[in-house]
Amino acid sequence: MKKKDNQTLISFYIITIFPEMFFSISNYGVTGKAIQKKIITLDCLNPRDFAQNKYKSIDDRPYGGGPGMLMSVKPLYLSIKYAQSLLKNATVIYLSPQGMKLNQTNIFQLIKKKKIIFVCGRYEGIDQRIIDSLIDEEWSIGDYVLTGGELAAMVIIDAIARFIPGVINTIKSVEKESFYNNLLDYPHYTRPKKIYDMTVPEVLLSGNHNQIRLWRLKKSLEKTLKKRPDLLEEKILKKEEKIILSTFKKNKK
Ligand code: SAM
Repeated sequence: MKKKDNQTLISFYIITIFPEMFFSISNYGVTGKAIQKKIITLDCLNPRDFAQNKYKSIDDRPYGGGPGMLMSVKPLYLSIKYAQSLLKNATVIYLSPQGMKLNQTNIFQLIKKKKIIFVCGRYEGIDQRIIDSLIDEEWSIGDYVLTGGELAAMVIIDAIARFIPGVINTIKSVEKESFYNNLLDYPHYTRPKKIYDMTVPEVLLSGNHNQIRLWRLKKSLEKTLKKRPDLLEEKILKKEEKIILSTFKKNKK
């Protein structure tokens, strides 16, 4: 994905009864800057504005009984249809604890979609008929239950934004981060060289780029092996990485 001047690279429409929650992501940090520069567009639609009843209610009791309320069909249906008319050919995603669990690889796949409508549930969730008729994909941000889909949508937008050209100045820094290439990030140090009797590893002060690269690779592999060995099982190892890992194993014996 290459960016031309003033070009929007990804657009989001959020269906939410709490559009104000998105103020933070639209106004702070790198996502805020990207939205202000229009590299990313983010708009919200409130199903309450599509509720055609006197009290603007958007929820109702579940058929068959049981606790809690459900978001009813009509306001959601109308708001999703309206978002689709504004964002043609967008993928409609329902944030749900029952969806596929997100990881970095899925984030790369979502970036390619370029137009996404996020549906944020509240209460006990949304009427199944919306899921059956209008939802293309369901995504979860983890095996726990939130009170609403808004935070999940923001987490996904933030994770996507980091890989949009022009959002983070140095794409190289993203490439060295945790999960990129199935490795955890190496340790980082900044000035001063010594503080409270704590020092910086000598190699980082040596100016020898190859030694520094090798040290960082070793530390990444060491951390991943210790904290997330599952990532290494899925990784296609380069020759150099295999050699480093085998020395760890030898040193353990
Ligand atoms: N009754 C639902 C269930 O057990 O699957 C949970 C509903 S939850 C209280 C309300 C809303 O929060 C959901 O409709 C969904 O949009 C959102 N949500 C909750 N947990 C989530 C998660 N782990 N990932 C993404 N969205 C989540």
